[in-house]
Amino acid sequence: RLSEKLGDIAHKLRGSARISESDLDDTLREMRLALLEADVALPVVRHLMSEVREQALGAEVARSLQPGQVIIKILHDVLADVLGGQRRDLDLSKIPSVVLLCGLQGAGKTTTAGKLAKLLASQGKKVALTSVDATRPAAREQLQVLASQVDVPYIEGAGATAAAMAASAVNEAGRSGYHVLILDTAGRQVVDDALMEEIREVAEQVRASERLLVLDAMTGQTALSIAEQFHAAVTMTGCILTKTDADVRGGAALSVARSTGVPVRYIGTGEKIDAFEAFDPDRMAGRILGQGDVVGLVEKIQSSVNQAQAEKTAAKINKGQFDLGDFAEQLGQMQNMGGMAGMLKMLPGVKLPQEALAQVDDKPIKRMQAMVSSMTLKERRYPRVINGSRKKRIAAGSGTSVQEINKMLKQFAQMQKMMKKMKGSKGKRMMAQMAG
Ligand code: GDP
Ligand code: MG
Repeated sequence: RLSEKLGDIAHKLRGSARISESDLDDTLREMRLALLEADVALPVVRHLMSEVREQALGAEVARSLQPGQVIIKILHDVLADVLGGQRRDLDLSKIPSVVLLCGLQGAGKTTTAGKLAKLLASQGKKVALTSVDATRPAAREQLQVLASQVDVPYIEGAGATAAAMAASAVNEAGRSGYHVLILDTAGRQVVDDALMEEIREVAEQVRASERLLVLDAMTGQTALSIAEQFHAAVTMTGCILTKTDADVRGGAALSVARSTGVPVRYIGTGEKIDAFEAFDPDRMAGRILGQGDVVGLVEKIQSSVNQAQAEKTAAKINKGQFDLGDFAEQLGQMQNMGGMAGMLKMLPGVKLPQEALAQVDDKPIKRMQAMVSSMTLKERRYPRVINGSRKKRIAAGSGTSVQEINKMLKQFAQMQKMMKKMKGSKGKRMMAQMAG
């Protein structure tokens, strides 16, 4: 894995006070191999390495006091720069703004259409979805089902060709006052000239504000040529990298961003509709360097934790009123964040193999919630009243055991103790940060 390899290199360098020119050469060679193994396209690797070398020499890394820090910083910045520098939002100023999704069959366009609709709707945009797969009604139906799942209206365009259907759907969206129309297209192979021509026509017809290439992160080396060919047919304004949960190496993102200059805007991180996030070049560079996805974790917490709830919790902590009911609620929020596995994956320094993550389960959380829901309000607020007979009752009611209840009460007591420590301004600040 690229992140691990580079992490190792980074680790080695961090320790050393000074490195020689030959150490620098060795380091660059290892970086080059690591990037190639991550499926970054060769021309892109060459560019990255010459960039890092030039900057490293310019910064006189070998003679600097902390060469490790300096070269890691250089590589980080070069990666982030290639990946697109600053994070950019979609241009949705036009009403309606058309967001056109294109890409190969199975890349994840339809799923992504649903994910993006949900995300934009949660940001307060009036969003609608449409599919212009003229020949496959089943494909349109798939999107229709997703639309109702995310509670976003689906518009069925009329017409015999994809371009006609698109035009009709855009008109309808305009009449109904939608801000954004997300347009899903038929999957196509780049070798299929007729379909590539069709997507060109659709793009011209609707003058899409954003034309996004949906690209499977697992396409590896071929990502570059796929991106180039789509870019030639329809000038892309961005790329959405899907299935980054299956391929975390980041090679495709680097290749596409460097070769076409088309920035990655979002990444798909799983099959579920919530497994989607804005792409952050800086964070991806950090991830590639093996520094963990701390920013991602914080953002997940921000979007999952209801702000009002977080404030209420902060107030309770400050007054020493945080009870078992709040505890159960917090556990539920953890689940919203993709459960334990989702959180562990983002922690710095935690590198669990994929199989291990699959085994982390959230059953204990569900059991704890069951126990709390079998308690009376008084028991939740004053756990010390929970005596032996109450424990038996709670265990029976929640289908758990007295041992489990004891264990949970102990964990809660520990948490309460910790919370007392962070009471006051520090705790408040922390909760405010979590709530965004
Ligand atoms: P389309 O042909 O481009 O419309 O692709 P679909 O949206 O139908 O998706 C193809 C497959 O990829 C489906 O099984 C999706 O569940 C899966 N998929 C899409 N995005 C992701 C992702 O980010 N992660 C994972 N693991 N699977 C994804
Ligand atoms: Mg599809």
